[in-house]
Amino acid sequence: MLFRPRPEKLELILLRYLKPRMEFSYDQALNYTNLVKGYEGELKSDIWLKGLTGEWLVLHDLLFEYHGSKFQIDTLIITFEKIYLLDVKYFEGDYSIKDDKWYNPAGTLQKNPLHQLERCETLLTKLLLKLGHHYEIESYLIFNNPEFHLNTTSINPAFIFPTQLNRFLKKLNMKPVKLHKKHYQLAKQLVDHNQEESPYSRLPQYSFEKLKKGIICSNNCNTFYSDEQLICKKCGCKEEVDAAVLRSVEEFSLLFPDRKITTEGIHDWCGIIKSKKTIRRILRKYLTLHRHSRSSYYSFKE
Ligand SMILES: [Zn+2]
Repeated sequence: MLFRPRPEKLELILLRYLKPRMEFSYDQALNYTNLVKGYEGELKSDIWLKGLTGEWLVLHDLLFEYHGSKFQIDTLIITFEKIYLLDVKYFEGDYSIKDDKWYNPAGTLQKNPLHQLERCETLLTKLLLKLGHHYEIESYLIFNNPEFHLNTTSINPAFIFPTQLNRFLKKLNMKPVKLHKKHYQLAKQLVDHNQEESPYSRLPQYSFEKLKKGIICSNNCNTFYSDEQLICKKCGCKEEVDAAVLRSVEEFSLLFPDRKITTEGIHDWCGIIKSKKTIRRILRKYLTLHRHSRSSYYSFKE
């Protein structure tokens, strides 16, 4: 049973909004690509885990803190007698380990993912004890990109390679035991302890004034509509004006949570809608108007 599905990452959504509107530096672009890839790998692993039969509680994407140390968990599976901790690595290409050090395909030294996993396991053990639970934890690094290969002389049983994924699942499926109330309580406690971290401080610096204005095609092809016809020159899709403006309002409000939604602001943001009346009509129709003598603004309906 999927107890906690994976939420879409706000950081990724915000970066996706920003990308066509500003120039990313090399590092920012690389970070974005890595986030997209990592998320893709996590989603693939979630689909793979749907093959689990029997009684399991699956929790995705948790962030905990224990005595000031934060740790993030990709996937946690609660079973009758054990907890499985899975860290998904969507690495691509030929990696290698030399003297306990990890190198990526370009030969650059990497963080050792095993150290990360061990740290996570230690902190989770402590957190579980604090919550009053004693469970054995079994941790695995899941490499689920079929294009991944690891050159190493010593095989670590915590590594699950692409060709072993099916067998790993079969092994888990062999021992389903009905869970008790305490397992569900533990799952709930863990979800309650999950922390939300604001991604805004990690984003590249941006301002309303400097971002490129316009409406981006709804097909995610990163192209701005060139005129009020709202037909994408790249993919040919066409969008209705209400839908396009509303999408832009959502984008605006996520990128600028402290700015008020006003006709003026959204007119600027959309760029290509000539008539302010059109913007006002759409805002009035779908959002709540807050009247003030000097400046009225809108908010999304509850
Ligand atoms: Zn398009």
